[in-house]
Amino acid sequence: MNLFEEAKKYIPGGVNSPVRAFGSVGGEPIFIKKGKGSKIYDVNNNEYIDYVCSWGPLIVGHCNERIVNRLKEVINDGTSFGAPTELEIELAKLVVEYVPSIEMVRMVNSGTEAVMSAIRLARAYTNRKKIVKFEGCYHGHSDSLLVKAGSGALTFNQPSSPGVPEEFAKLTLIAEYNNIDSVKNLFLENKGEIAAVIIEPVAGNMGVVLPKENFLKELEELCKNEGALLIFDEIITGFRLCKGGAQEYFGINPDITTLGKIIGGGLPVGAYGGKKEIMEIISPVGPVYQAGTLSGNPLAMAAGIETLKILGEDNFYENLKTKSLKLWEGFKENCKKLNLNFAFNHIESMACMFFKEGAVESFADAVKSDTKLYAEFFHKMLNKGVNLAPSQFEAMFVSSAHSDEDIEKTIQIHYEVLKEMFG
Ligand SMILES: *Cc1c(COP(=O)(O)O)cnc(C)c1O
Repeated sequence: MNLFEEAKKYIPGGVNSPVRAFGSVGGEPIFIKKGKGSKIYDVNNNEYIDYVCSWGPLIVGHCNERIVNRLKEVINDGTSFGAPTELEIELAKLVVEYVPSIEMVRMVNSGTEAVMSAIRLARAYTNRKKIVKFEGCYHGHSDSLLVKAGSGALTFNQPSSPGVPEEFAKLTLIAEYNNIDSVKNLFLENKGEIAAVIIEPVAGNMGVVLPKENFLKELEELCKNEGALLIFDEIITGFRLCKGGAQEYFGINPDITTLGKIIGGGLPVGAYGGKKEIMEIISPVGPVYQAGTLSGNPLAMAAGIETLKILGEDNFYENLKTKSLKLWEGFKENCKKLNLNFAFNHIESMACMFFKEGAVESFADAVKSDTKLYAEFFHKMLNKGVNLAPSQFEAMFVSSAHSDEDIEKTIQIHYEVLKEMFG
């Protein structure tokens, strides 16, 4: 039986999230049976070294023993109560301890939900309507934010989507990543109307694009001067760049932070948090409504807690960085040997090679990449047992489960593939 054909009969496009369908690289998606550590296995028992890591959450690898054991313990006591549990306090405490600007946090079930709620909160707190986002940044698929969004939307050439009323999209203003003047202009043209600026502090949904020196600092100051809130969407960067995410890494103090992916350790969790004064206008303390039947779900909390505990152990990030750098340096060395000058952006354990020469510092740069070359590269890597994201405009992630052997093998395969393509 062809599983993809079967899936397509019952699920639109055969998938529950569009990029999984291989639309931008062609061919058919592999169906996964299981994962362990750094590897995933498809239904035909082929093994792949995995650098998608469920699109970021699995920073400690697949099927981590500690997480699985904790889940087994928790599941014996039930799966959901719709009433408070101690586990929610435990995860909230860890988040407040790790993330510098978060004094209080509310758990939700996905990144999309976290961002949607954060936007509502920012609008209520400032009593303003407009939002500034950056071209190529993705903040989930809620209506206000599905405008000029990266990755899936980008891959499918749908910068916005039918079904999003113009009236909503009009309240979302678009700035250029790494261009502070573009934000200043929006503030000039919309004096006193902008509730918040939302940004991925390191963009991870148009490939990986790093903030230029001072860009985030200038953004922080600009927001403060204009009375707008700064929202850091740290759904990728949170617990990825370091324990405290991009805000700790770059020394920025956002007003609201959204979290997702790693915080759930592979289970569906999102969260938004910030200063107490802002968070306490959320219901039931304040008037801003936001709720969730399964929010704070005990299984999801348990996976998050165990993951964050592992991240808090000595040298976790140092070791991850050493490993990642070895891989990034290997890739760069391969390119040099073959006289290839493709842009390669990386920070800590996330990276992206763009099939484009010259720097990639914005969305306009990123989209100059040759996606046909990426598709060829992707399939060749996959055939040799390395799983990358099926889109040029995504990050690859290293986990603590990747071994030196995995890294060396990946560097070797990367060389073979590039040599076949360009040698
Ligand atoms: C993945 C992602 C989201 C959306 O999270 P979901 O859990 O997929 O809804 C939002 N923002 C960023 C930066 C993301 O990478």
